[in-house]
Amino acid sequence: MFKSIYPYTQELIAEYKEHTANEIETKLLKGEKAFRDMLNIPLDQRRQWMAQVAKSMRDNVKEHATIISQEMGKTLQEATAEVQKCATTIDYYVENIEQILQPRIISSDASKSYVSYEPKGIILAIMPWNFPYWQVFRFAIPNILAGNAGLLKHASNVSGCALAIEKLFTESGFPEGTFQTVLLSSQHIEPIIADPRVQGVTLTGSTPAGKSVAALAGKYIKKTVLELGGSDPFIVLKDADIKEAAKVAVQGRMQNAGQSCIAAKRWIVEKPAVAEFTQAVAEILQAMKQGDPMLESTNMGPMARPDLAEDLGRQLKETISQGAHLVLGGTYEGCNFAPTLLTGVTADMTAFREETFGPLGVIIEAAGEEAAIALANETDFGLGSALWTKDLEKAARLARQIESGNVFINAMVRSDARLPFGGVKQSGYGRELSLEGTHEFLNVKTVYIH
Ligand code: NAP
Repeated sequence: MFKSIYPYTQELIAEYKEHTANEIETKLLKGEKAFRDMLNIPLDQRRQWMAQVAKSMRDNVKEHATIISQEMGKTLQEATAEVQKCATTIDYYVENIEQILQPRIISSDASKSYVSYEPKGIILAIMPWNFPYWQVFRFAIPNILAGNAGLLKHASNVSGCALAIEKLFTESGFPEGTFQTVLLSSQHIEPIIADPRVQGVTLTGSTPAGKSVAALAGKYIKKTVLELGGSDPFIVLKDADIKEAAKVAVQGRMQNAGQSCIAAKRWIVEKPAVAEFTQAVAEILQAMKQGDPMLESTNMGPMARPDLAEDLGRQLKETISQGAHLVLGGTYEGCNFAPTLLTGVTADMTAFREETFGPLGVIIEAAGEEAAIALANETDFGLGSALWTKDLEKAARLARQIESGNVFINAMVRSDARLPFGGVKQSGYGRELSLEGTHEFLNVKTVYIH
């Protein structure tokens, strides 16, 4: 039984039964049929149905945002923005999918040769709770427009979101089975990955989950995309606009109560800027209001589950015992964790070495710009990174030295349909969004005409 619990009060909202093996087989049959049917449906029709999904979301934005806030605790304002971002991303793909799927003509010794991008079948998406709509849509929109069918295994605390998304696709005109939700716990995933109708697996989640799913996918030769954890550096050099950097650092760290893969988890600040930066972030953090996500006055909701708050509490305690200084916050009750600031964090401490998935800002002092880059790279992760300096030539040079899937200069890391998104090192492989992301689960078919 899956339980949806309102994180702010720990009240039980709903319970959902896990699907049986027979129900899953029916879903696979429907998914396969929808995939075959879609092969004969013109792209224009798929675009119209997809546009209808966006329209339904916009027409019912409050309803969708409420499900998100109630199940995982982000503020209603953040949840509304998430739903709107999904709809905007649909607009982008409806407009650009034809171009993205355009065959690529290649000159060779053939009279004509080209690559065509063709759908493969059902793609399994294993998704996390932290952006319960966005993570799903950024996979589903390009794949379904390209002709694949989607089968979603969502995180077990957001089943209501998973079912609402399935309903959006079904009611928008797509053949039944084009996008389905399967309510299933992680330990029962192997038969689905093994099934020949399933042609690929995308997982967004923690690195341990990625390893386990990638091992299974390897066993059955299924293509995978892994979007895993991160411990993004947010580097502030001494010549940066420190006030602006501090504002964006807090936004990048504290949005979604700090539960974002691309949150600015390590603020690495060049020594001469540390005092000003520390004061600026402390002032902003102090003014934040953590509380009931349904209230407009709240700008940071609770964390999604008490065990996540406990784990952050452990990381905080360890880091303080290793010598870091607690400037503010540090208290929590249930899922409600106060915005917290640590200074004097060094590379051997827990909050530096582990991914911290909650509202914890940490300041790490760097002796100079080279030391800052070395600290940025001193991690197993390589998802995003931000670099703040007024010298854009220097920024371009340093950006090449950072080991991550993206570098945002004088800005906060964010995902955008037009730009590929993904990581290196233990943050995973493959890309989502843009052209690269759309091609991941397509058959890149070479056609040679003598
Ligand atoms: P998680 O525990 O790894 O769960 C993510 C999804 O994987 C859930 O659906 C979960 O199902 C499933 N799962 C977990 N272990 C599995 C296994 N052994 N086999 C198959 N499925 C498995 O991660 P989370 O706590 O929900 O999310 C936080 C993590 O996700 C953080 O590390 C964060 O950085 C990362 N993340 C990465 C990105 C990115 O784009 N790179 C985006 C968002 C989040 P159950 O809920 O049923 O266990």
